[in-house]
Amino acid sequence: MIVMKFGGTSVADAERIRNVTEIVRSQEKRKPVLVLSAMGDTTDYILEAAGDALKKGFVSIEKIEEIHLKAVSDLDLGPVLKKDLKTLFWDMGSLLTGISLTRELTGRTKDCLVSFGERLSVRIAAAYLRNQKIKAQAIDAWDVGFVSDSNFGQAELRNESFVRIASSLLTVIAEGITPVITGFIAKDESGNITTLGRGGSDLTATVIAAACKAEEVQVWKDVDGILTADPKIVPDARPVEKINYEEAAELAYFGAQVLHPRAMQPCMKSGTPVLVKNSYNPKAPGTRIEMNGGKEPSLIRAITSRKNITLVDLVSTYMLGQPGYLAKLFSEFAAAGISVDMVATSEVSVSLTLDAVYDLGAVKRELSRIAAVDVKTNKAIVTIVGDVRRSSEILEQVFGVCRDMGVQVQMVSQGASKVNISFIVNDEEAPELVKALHRHFFGGKTGGKPNGKTGGKPGDKTKKGGKGSAKGVDA
Ligand code: ASP
Ligand code: MG
Repeated sequence: MIVMKFGGTSVADAERIRNVTEIVRSQEKRKPVLVLSAMGDTTDYILEAAGDALKKGFVSIEKIEEIHLKAVSDLDLGPVLKKDLKTLFWDMGSLLTGISLTRELTGRTKDCLVSFGERLSVRIAAAYLRNQKIKAQAIDAWDVGFVSDSNFGQAELRNESFVRIASSLLTVIAEGITPVITGFIAKDESGNITTLGRGGSDLTATVIAAACKAEEVQVWKDVDGILTADPKIVPDARPVEKINYEEAAELAYFGAQVLHPRAMQPCMKSGTPVLVKNSYNPKAPGTRIEMNGGKEPSLIRAITSRKNITLVDLVSTYMLGQPGYLAKLFSEFAAAGISVDMVATSEVSVSLTLDAVYDLGAVKRELSRIAAVDVKTNKAIVTIVGDVRRSSEILEQVFGVCRDMGVQVQMVSQGASKVNISFIVNDEEAPELVKALHRHFFGGKTGGKPNGKTGGKPGDKTKKGGKGSAKGVDA
């Protein structure tokens, strides 16, 4: 069997669902299990509706109804399905009315609300697949064993999910049925609906694949695979042919919004290959993520950047030979619920980065007792994923490009995972720098100085796989 996951843009409307049907049909013999996201931007619309109910006491699901009912009529699906969907709309509307009356929106209610997106999309797609003579069945993930903790909005699946998923799904498949499963959602042990974090459908798919020992997982997006850079910054970015799990995970963490960062874990353990494909361009080979992905490593695989980073510099001579100093420091961040990303230390200083979303007031006060604290905002992390065994070569070239661009690198860290080198620059410098680095390592027309003095030949010539659609990234 294989698992095929289709993201929001891949099932955005009737035409996209027809397209998905053809892709599924072409691989029907491989016994596909489908995992779907909510249609288009439905999840965002639901969250907007929740905000309206909470803040303005105003309830409207018109936009959401319209997207789904239009697809139903464009696909010529019957009144039975419409009735099914109406029940879901009714429940969603009631929940929103509850929010508008109580003016309260808990994590639990929010998860329950957004779950309707995926529940609607699988029902429509399964009905159409059946219409097209594919024996499909819409399934809510909790009905095939997706059990999570109760951390609403960011739930973790419980280990027993794997055994339950394997036994229930393999039974369904044995009956010749193509299951169409809701991505992103689960239930906790008390039966409350939970979500696995935005973009969590990827994780649903890889969990199913690992649990059922699938041949492969195909993650269908709207770009030609994992690209060498963000196409919005580097228009001639191109797909990476092969990559290993660690590299793919690093890319996801550091801003390439191609796969959910946690999605790699289940398949890394089970060794299941993950194929990232473009539903707009099914013929393109896509990116293959596997154990020995890209065995003959090129110098670098891809470049990503993440904006809106805060850099915290802590300097203290007290740190010298003080056991437990770092523990103390990090415990302050932990106590404030702040997640630290990059860290670099010397004997007397520590630099670390965080997303700019946190209020640092309290932490700063506490830390000031043991160090001089300097907080710098509007920074970006640029990450190079590649063969860190050749890190000196990479760093030499990266710094050469930075020097030529007049960019000062403010912090450097080489990931312990041995696949990434990350460094901090000013926010506004990042896009041009990424372009220049891409040009340096991959060639092409975009950015940098065409005849830059950085030396070094382009490090990687990934095969051309056709251009991604201009629609951006389907998270
Ligand atoms: N629909 C959810 C989201 O937009 C989950 C997903 O697409 O994977 O985040
Ligand atoms: Mg989505």
